[in-house]
Amino acid sequence: GVAAGALMVSLAACSSGGSSSGGGEGGGDGGLIGVAMPTKSSERWIQDGDAVKSQLEDAGYTVDLQYAEDDIPTQVSQIENMITKGAKALIVASIDGTTLTSVLQEAADNDIPVIAYDRLIRDTENVDYYASFDNYKVGVQQANSVLNGLGLVDLDGNATDGAPAGPFNIELFAGSPDDNNATFFWNGAIDTLQPYIDKKVLVVKSGQEAFEQAATLRWDGETAQKRMENLLTSTYSDGSKVNAVLSPYDGISRGIISALTDAGYSVGAEWPVISGQDAELDSVKAIESGEQYATIFKDTRELATVAVKMASALLEGDEPETNNTEDYDNGVKVVPSFLLESQIVVKDNIEDTLVKSGYWTEEEIKG
Ligand code: BGC
Repeated sequence: GVAAGALMVSLAACSSGGSSSGGGEGGGDGGLIGVAMPTKSSERWIQDGDAVKSQLEDAGYTVDLQYAEDDIPTQVSQIENMITKGAKALIVASIDGTTLTSVLQEAADNDIPVIAYDRLIRDTENVDYYASFDNYKVGVQQANSVLNGLGLVDLDGNATDGAPAGPFNIELFAGSPDDNNATFFWNGAIDTLQPYIDKKVLVVKSGQEAFEQAATLRWDGETAQKRMENLLTSTYSDGSKVNAVLSPYDGISRGIISALTDAGYSVGAEWPVISGQDAELDSVKAIESGEQYATIFKDTRELATVAVKMASALLEGDEPETNNTEDYDNGVKVVPSFLLESQIVVKDNIEDTLVKSGYWTEEEIKG
């Protein structure tokens, strides 16, 4: 929409004044660290960038934080610039995990260690560590949140006594196919939903059950909105209703909600159960109002801490702490990882999860 476009332009204008490097508290004696983030169009990456920058500065580093507005060549040249400026380490949340091979070769040639942030960087040996969440489990949680909304399981995924037999109509959305996380989320979710699909408790009425059919390039909300509109027209104009939508990200959920509202659905008895991810503020409000059923909370402050610890360990000649050396094969090697845990957020536990942790205040959510 116009407002979103204007917001992106003004944010881009703010960040285009060159590097947002700062001396910070520590005076920057530790040297320069380059931080490459994908886009400011989603709230979570702004929070990630802010948290990484301030924690690095507190640890005594100077920071070059850049956002690429989801444009791959921009991200490549931002990283090139960081190398030219003498960055001692790079923390990178990629747009397309497969497009950084040559710029990361440059980094390796200059002995600059690289940490993949949240999204695995693929097809290169020149990524040293990976800081993320247990992404398969995020997908399991997304599916469980949908099943919970339908009354089939509790939030841990245990079957509910006297659960309804259905059948419930469900439609499936996936994330961006060039983001390694998207298939992890999808696999976790589908493995969890499949037994219900097999038993016909859940029916994917459109028949669109393949990842390729469900994928949403760049996690774009408008793309998701259009697909949802098409699904409603092609599959539900016989008067049947969609009862649940698996959505992998809050921005996609908002697109789905718009399509449903435009098609005449209203919150209440016939409104479907919709999942999400990231606990973005507008979506937390949508959970309060009943438009969205759940989201997945991944604390970006904790992720920042993991990445910052990895970077400082590497620069001090220590070995960063990892807790997974199996699951994240990037096509060339298994990248040693530290994976954090995520939490399902529904209306009932907003206070216990988001407010108590200080992620959002009561005022922000209610305001
Ligand atoms: C992140 C998600 C986010 C998505 C869209 C993924 O790589 O892990 O938290 O919702 O990108 O930005």
